[in-house]
Amino acid sequence: MSTVPIAKPSLIGHEMQYVVDAISNNWISSSGEYITQLEHAFANFCETKHCILTSNGTVALHLALVALGIGAGDEVIIPDLTFAATANAVILAGAKPVIVDARLDDWCIDPKQIELSISSRTKAIIPVHLYGHPCDMSSINALAEKYKLKVIEDAAEAHGARYQNRRVGGVSDCATFSFYGNKIMTTGEGGCITTNSDYLAQHARMLRDHGMNRDQFYWHEHVGFNYRMTNMQAAIGLAQLERIDEFISDRKRILDTYKYFLLPHGFIMNPMLKDVEPVNWMVSVLFPEVDVDVRDKALLFLKQNHIETRPFFNPLTTMPIYEGCHHPISLYLSRYGLNLPTFYGLEEEVIARISRLVVSVLSRITV
Ligand SMILES: *Cc1c(COP(=O)(O)O)cnc(C)c1O
Repeated sequence: MSTVPIAKPSLIGHEMQYVVDAISNNWISSSGEYITQLEHAFANFCETKHCILTSNGTVALHLALVALGIGAGDEVIIPDLTFAATANAVILAGAKPVIVDARLDDWCIDPKQIELSISSRTKAIIPVHLYGHPCDMSSINALAEKYKLKVIEDAAEAHGARYQNRRVGGVSDCATFSFYGNKIMTTGEGGCITTNSDYLAQHARMLRDHGMNRDQFYWHEHVGFNYRMTNMQAAIGLAQLERIDEFISDRKRILDTYKYFLLPHGFIMNPMLKDVEPVNWMVSVLFPEVDVDVRDKALLFLKQNHIETRPFFNPLTTMPIYEGCHHPISLYLSRYGLNLPTFYGLEEEVIARISRLVVSVLSRITV
């Protein structure tokens, strides 16, 4: 019996055709039509003025931080419950991540905890739209205004999500996205920054290309990087973007189907606050606290039944390489949360089978 994976890309649109076109025309490196087209199309999709493609989502975060002038001696507030890249990019920029708790309402960074963690060194906040649910951006932007901080949305998991009717990516100073293979749309590896700031876009482009003066060849005014994406990856991305509405609506169908089977059994699933449209990057269930190891037992049981699942992220502060004290909400979510297979075209009967297995774990523990 073949394993149902947690995620897989769908490459049945124009992906192959565009990649073959890029290769046939010799444009395989980091300039070319697909780069320009994808930058325009993705900015358009996010309703922002600019999109700067990068080699992945982690370097997009690093590039955004450096372009905003954040570095040694600065503090950047990030959530405890996120993928490690959010913290690593801050450390790579020479700044210090100050790690704060999530809140139960939306599993995202808690604005109240942000305010308690602001110091004279704080320069920026990186809210992460966890599992595709937008953060409380109006509270976060209000804090940013009050304390003169920059906001970078880590939107790696939230392509197309809306906050108060506006697309994420355009609701703060800038945002970063990932186009890794398991994200809502993919370029294999890849990422980008979106912003409405002309200055920031221009500065990030220059830093992306070795900090070279754009009008004077081999004249470098800043210590830059090579964080460019290739035209071949952009070719895949353009084909993916053509289908993004379909990807997003299918993820909604998948979540609704899981909810139909699981909600009656006491599971808490992907949050949805008013005024937001999440994109359900990963279907997520929180097990009731019947047994401290219930989630891990479920993961093992599903694996034995050829279903791949993922535990929620470990809170950053539980790992010795990051500084900070433990946070109760992040610990709770991380201990009881499980991500279930979520990918385009996942059939209803497979969702039903996975759900039955999840429910049976619970009944075996409670009897
Ligand atoms: C995937 C992800 C990233 C990193 O993106 P890569 O393209 O893998 O470098 C950063 N932040 C979050 C929240 C992510 O989920």
